[in-house]
Amino acid sequence: MANPSLLILAGDGIGPEVMAEVKKIIGWMGAKRGVSFDVTEDLVGGCAYDKHGVPLHDDTMAKAQEVDAVLLGAVGGPKYDSLDFSVKPERGLLRLRKEMDLFSNLRPAQCFDALADFSSLKKEVVAGLDIVIVRELTSGVYFGEPRGIFVEGNERVGINTQRYTESEIARVARSAFELARKRGNKVCSMEKANVMESGILWRDVVQEIHDKEYPDVQLSHMYADAGAMQLTRWPKQFDVIVTDNLFGDLLSDLAAMLTGSLGMLPSASLGAPMANGRPKALYEPVHGSAPDIAGTGKANPIACILSFAMALRYSFDMGEDAARVEAAVEKVLADGLRTADLMGPDGGTPISTTQMGDAIVAA
Ligand code: ATP
Ligand code: MG
Repeated sequence: MANPSLLILAGDGIGPEVMAEVKKIIGWMGAKRGVSFDVTEDLVGGCAYDKHGVPLHDDTMAKAQEVDAVLLGAVGGPKYDSLDFSVKPERGLLRLRKEMDLFSNLRPAQCFDALADFSSLKKEVVAGLDIVIVRELTSGVYFGEPRGIFVEGNERVGINTQRYTESEIARVARSAFELARKRGNKVCSMEKANVMESGILWRDVVQEIHDKEYPDVQLSHMYADAGAMQLTRWPKQFDVIVTDNLFGDLLSDLAAMLTGSLGMLPSASLGAPMANGRPKALYEPVHGSAPDIAGTGKANPIACILSFAMALRYSFDMGEDAARVEAAVEKVLADGLRTADLMGPDGGTPISTTQMGDAIVAA
């Protein structure tokens, strides 16, 4: 059988720095676990613009469509701020998302015990937390027509349209149910069916897909405002939450901050299933290129490493190896190792990006 294939797009700023630590883990897996990946590396963002005059070359785009998973670092930086909008680094990432049709955005909120003090919530509320928010990413109120600012009578009116088709709801629902089967087998769907027609359709379609295709998964429904309240009251009641683009935008930021630092947060964006049955997928840390610390060795590589762990679990069916990586992260944190972003004002001496990567490999 062919090796699993991975396209690495490290990008700009701290992207290559954090990605270097992932490559150590890939090397370790080859040497110690006999797991080989077909890894291709290419450019995205500002570095692609520097070489090709575009933030994503057509050949790179084609490669992304072929591989089992894409792992991306970060794009952008002050050097590219004055570029024309059409060639900005971020456009490279947007093109990947659009052409791969990545409609399902996974944002885990996972709290490592050693960092539970970082949360704004009480320790017992967040310690051991492990949930995923699935946000519909390509439709809904951010895209629906009509939209615009119009003049009505003697005043202006701002209009956006929340619009969801049955198939758009069905495909993101399936992706949430598939995910739940690999985790705690529980999905909570959030909408506002009490006040929105799109919410009524959302609830109906999610229920229908469940009853027909995923009756083994435990499904509940919640209004999104109540969901926000429950997420801060007792987040451990959830496993997978599926919601629309707008509510997902808010709820995933809220959930992310239950756990603390930006340097810890991975993400995945999934599309339609490929010939092998697994979804098209792009994994990336939630943080950006962090130009303020690029080149200083201060970047926390954990978000990128956990993004790779998500790829292991969701694209490569290597759940055990994913758990191994996560356990290594847990261990180094429990041992007290901290990059600068994980330290309070009187925290002691931080370790560097490479030291953190080495420690995780050793663990
Ligand atoms: P983008 O527009 O790409 O999201 P941004 O400017 O909004 O970028 P980041 O680049 O993520 O955000 O940086 C926000 C802040 O968080 C910066 O001060 C940065 O140094 C810090 N930061 C981001 N990622 C990390 C990391 N992996 N380790 C340590 N600090 C980080
Ligand atoms: Mg930002």
